[in-house]
Amino acid sequence: MNPYFEAATETLPRPQLRELQLRRLQELLDEILPSNAFYSAKLGTQRRVDSWDAYRELPFTTKQEIAQDQLEQPPYGTNVTYPLEQYIKLHQTSGTTGKAPIRVLDTEASWEWWARCWGHVYRGAGIGPGDRVFFAFSFGPFIGFWAAYEGARTVGAMSVPGGGMQTDQRLAAIFDNGITALCCTPTYALRLAEEARRLGLDLAGSSIHSTVHAGEPGASVPGVRARIEAAFRAQCHDHTGMTELGASGFTCQERSGVHLIESEFIFEVIDPRTLEPVAPGGQGELVATNLGRAGMPLIRYRTGDLVQVDESPCTCARTFARLPHGIMGRADDMVVVRGMNVFPSAIEGVLREFPEVSEFRIEVFRRRSMAELKVLLEPLPDSADDLAERAAERLQDRLLLRIPCELVPGGSLPRFELKARRVVQRED
Ligand SMILES: [Zn+2]
Repeated sequence: MNPYFEAATETLPRPQLRELQLRRLQELLDEILPSNAFYSAKLGTQRRVDSWDAYRELPFTTKQEIAQDQLEQPPYGTNVTYPLEQYIKLHQTSGTTGKAPIRVLDTEASWEWWARCWGHVYRGAGIGPGDRVFFAFSFGPFIGFWAAYEGARTVGAMSVPGGGMQTDQRLAAIFDNGITALCCTPTYALRLAEEARRLGLDLAGSSIHSTVHAGEPGASVPGVRARIEAAFRAQCHDHTGMTELGASGFTCQERSGVHLIESEFIFEVIDPRTLEPVAPGGQGELVATNLGRAGMPLIRYRTGDLVQVDESPCTCARTFARLPHGIMGRADDMVVVRGMNVFPSAIEGVLREFPEVSEFRIEVFRRRSMAELKVLLEPLPDSADDLAERAAERLQDRLLLRIPCELVPGGSLPRFELKARRVVQRED
C-alpha cells in the first residue's frame, strides 16, 4: 500500500515546504481579511507576509481571546469569514471548569480539509482500502469523533461507528465485522483489553493491525504503547489535534514521534514566558496556524501544549518535522530552576516511562524567588533498588537538569481518581 497520503508534499525538501507554507498563508490572508472582523482588527485588511520575519511579527491568538470574543458577540463571535449559511458543521470544545466551551464552525471546504488531514493520520498508520475502522467512543459535540469518521473515506477505508454501545457490545462488533483498525483513547483501548480478558476473548488474535489514539498523551508514552500493542498484537499510533485548530499530527510506520502536518499548518515552538522562539530542539509551547480552514481560521494560535520538535529527516522519507515525545504536557505549568525552564508535566512524562513506579510526586520548593525540584517515587513491590538513580539519570538525559529522586514507602503518597495533583508547591 502507498505509505503516503500526498507523497509530493510529504517528501518536499524543507526549504520548499517552508515556501509552500508562506504561499498558502498569503492565500489565506487574501481570502479572510476583507470579511473576517476578528482578524482584520488584529492584522489590518491588506496584510502581506512575504518572509518568516514578517510572519513572526503577526500577533498570537489565544484561546481566551476567542472565548471572550464569542461571549461578547454570541453565539459564534467575529472570527467568521463568510455568511452563516455557508457553514455546514458546528462543534465545540470541552470547556473547563467555569469556562464556556468555544464553538467552531466549518464550511464544506473546511470540512473537506479536516477529512484530508485525517487522511495523513490513516496513511501514517498503514490504513487504506480494505480496512474497516471501528470508532470506540460516544459521538458527542467534540469534533474529533466526527472528523475521524469522515476522514476514513479519503483513504478508501470503511467507517464503523461504535457510539451508544457498552464495552462488551463493542468487542462483539470488532469480532463480528472483522475490524482491522481501532480509533479510541489509549485508556479505552486498555479497558477493551481488560474486558476481553474477562470475557475470554482473544483480542490479540483479532484482525486489528493498527490502533490510532488521541485525547491523551498515552500512545507516545513507551510503557502505555507497549501494553496496548501486546493486548491487540497491533501497531499503536498517536495523533494530535484540537477542535478549534484541526487534526495536526500523526505517527508513521517508523513511529519515531508525531509528524506535524506541515503542508496544512505552520508550527513554531516558543518560550511561554518570553514568547520568543526556543533554540532548535528545545522544549516549549506549540504555536500553530491552520492553512485550510478559511471559514474560522487560527493564526499563530497558542495551543498550550508542551512539545519538543525534531526537524531531522525521518526514515519514512517524510520531511514533516516530528514531536519525538508527542505532547509532553501543558506549557502553563512551567517553573524556572537554575535559569532553566522546567515543565513538571515533562517530568511526569518521563516518570511514566517506568512501569515499576506506582505513584509519584513532584515537589517544587521556592526559596526567595528561586525554585528547586525534588521527585518522590513510590515503587511497586520487588522493583530494583536503583530505580531512583535510573529515574534521575533519564530526567537528566531528557531535561538536561539534575533533579534528585527519592524512594518513599509503598502507599505513602495520595491516590487520585480523576484530576491528579502530583505537583506540589512548597514555600520556605
Ligand atoms: Zn516518519
